[in-house]
Amino acid sequence: PEHVLRVSDLETSFTRDKREIKILRGVNFSIRKGEILGLVGESGSGKSLTSLSIMQLFHGTTGKIVNGSIHFNGHDLTKMSESEIRKIRGKQMAMIFQEPMTSLNPVLKIGKQLMEAIEMHLKLPKNESKHHAIQMLKSVGIGRAEEIIYEYPHQLSGGMRQRVMIAMAMACHPNLLIADEPTTALDVTIQAQILELMKKLKEENETAILLITHDLGVVAEMCDRVVVMYAGQVVEEADVFELFASPKHPYTKGLIASVPKIGDNKEVLESINGQVPSPQNMPNGCKFAPRCNQAMSICHQESPPTVKISATRQCSCWLYVKKDVEVNA
Ligand code: SF4
Ligand code: MG
Repeated sequence: PEHVLRVSDLETSFTRDKREIKILRGVNFSIRKGEILGLVGESGSGKSLTSLSIMQLFHGTTGKIVNGSIHFNGHDLTKMSESEIRKIRGKQMAMIFQEPMTSLNPVLKIGKQLMEAIEMHLKLPKNESKHHAIQMLKSVGIGRAEEIIYEYPHQLSGGMRQRVMIAMAMACHPNLLIADEPTTALDVTIQAQILELMKKLKEENETAILLITHDLGVVAEMCDRVVVMYAGQVVEEADVFELFASPKHPYTKGLIASVPKIGDNKEVLESINGQVPSPQNMPNGCKFAPRCNQAMSICHQESPPTVKISATRQCSCWLYVKKDVEVNA
């Protein structure tokens, strides 16, 4: 299988009061061409920082990759200069965020922003880029594209802005689209339309999508495979059907149990007690142990190895460490 992206042993830190605080503590996963990989976990698990690390968008922060590699189309992004990365960003790799206002320029008309992106990356002459911009807006379901190009971001609804963001992201046919909670701020109907649109674009262009979300309903609907993150590490990786049918890691089990089911009229949803530990105060051993109802004494002493359960899934938990299972510590 052709890997568009392969993240290996990624560690990202911030510096506070001259102390280095590690937030990502060895993240591993890869994405194939045309695949939608879901990255799930509670807030504070390191999902967004993983995407910012891939894009190397640490502007104005002390964020820094301190270990590991990020191979994109075979080249290690962690070894590239800022100018080399800039050529990749927005062209071969694009990103959409929860709030498009932060990535759209408020003082530029929609058409101008799209055309700038198109001219820069596709090196098209002006008259052609305008035509291309209109086509892109139409492809994301914006009917009045010829009028919208003369409007400013604030004149559009949230759903429309998100469509424009997707059009911008897809204008240059990226190999990888990173979507961080792309529909969280939108109402359910618009959310469904945007997700449908991302699926269609993926099918037409074979774009690989890294979909970051805390919404397991969106995961079930959209993803081929899922990576579950906890406290800056991947704790489970599985095919989407396997993950929901038989979650292995106690944390994944907790996440799935906390999703309300249709017909459920429980007053209080089952959820996982406690909170994600703070990076300054990580427990010894398994980082989930303080919240885990299956914790054993070894869990509080040593970090569990990553156990390969089948060709398509793995899990980092002492419960699955057996003599007859291959262990990749
Ligand atoms: Fe729970 Fe132990 Fe597995 Fe961690 S390693 S998830 S504490 S059983
Ligand atoms: Mg986030």
